[in-house]
Amino acid sequence: AATNQAQGQVVAAETFAPTGTGVMMNLGDPDLADKYSSLPADGIGLMREEFIWTSYIHEHPLYLIEKGEPDKVVDMLAEGVAKVARAMAPRPVVLRLSDFKSSEYRNLKGGDKYEPNEPADLLGWRGASRYYDPKYIDAFKLELAAVKKVRNEFGLKNLNVMIPFVRKVDEAKKVTEIMKEQGLERNQDFKVYMMAEIPSNIILADKFNEYIDGYSIGSNDLTMLLLGCDRNNDTVSPLFDERNLAVKRAIRHLIKAAHKDGKTVSICGQAPSEFPDFTNFLIQSGIDYVSVNPDMVKETKRNVAHFEQRIMLDKATGRGLEDPTDYEW
Ligand code: PEP
Ligand code: MG
Repeated sequence: AATNQAQGQVVAAETFAPTGTGVMMNLGDPDLADKYSSLPADGIGLMREEFIWTSYIHEHPLYLIEKGEPDKVVDMLAEGVAKVARAMAPRPVVLRLSDFKSSEYRNLKGGDKYEPNEPADLLGWRGASRYYDPKYIDAFKLELAAVKKVRNEFGLKNLNVMIPFVRKVDEAKKVTEIMKEQGLERNQDFKVYMMAEIPSNIILADKFNEYIDGYSIGSNDLTMLLLGCDRNNDTVSPLFDERNLAVKRAIRHLIKAAHKDGKTVSICGQAPSEFPDFTNFLIQSGIDYVSVNPDMVKETKRNVAHFEQRIMLDKATGRGLEDPTDYEW
């Protein structure tokens, strides 16, 4: 119990009971991991690797390789990731492997030489398509070496990984094969997830299932690609809405297809951080985890507990909740 100095009263600290749907958190800056580790999150659902590149490494991975400094990448990545894994242990941390667009890579020192000029790089050389490409694979291997260092040398086995922007099933196959060759094979204590953020991921989920342990819905990219609405274009921003029925039906389809093969589904896009009601829809659809911004963890945990109780009560009284996909936003 903490003392409320002004009132002279004793106020009980809020406690958070476990919820059926796990509440994870999104994190970029490793230096914030200690501070946020006291939040009642069940783990890190999305650790964005890009922050370490822009804030600590500053140089393009291929430029560092050419200069003969590949260890710099491995050491600095491992240090940043380990900070988060250590702060959160034993809770799981999902590191998303690099998902820069080429314009962002070009901003890293020495990047010009290695990056194509893509007018629409949101749809260009990003995510999984780089990892097996002979022009990038050596840099990808350094990312994997950093993961191995954190797990094997530092002993932080709560670290798992996620593959972003996987357009084709064949890419999931190729990337997981490279990971296996590099000593990172999926097993009981090492999970490999993929982002579900391209319509093909939803439509072919039954095929993608073979290569991964679960999905995290990237509702930012998924909404963009389902509604044909550039996420960075202000002119069409009124049309960008994660609560659109098309997105909701896609999410429902994914959860069903994933669960059929025992794969988990989480979400790490902005939707549940921005629209707390959206979390209710996700719970009703059977999602396993929601991952929100740190400032939304407590509120989400409270809302999830409250909504799960409501579902139980409605079941007990036979009233039943309305089907949230029937509601057009
Ligand atoms: C997403 O697409 O929803 C996502 C979380 O990834 P990013 O915003 O980094 O593309
Ligand atoms: Mg994305």
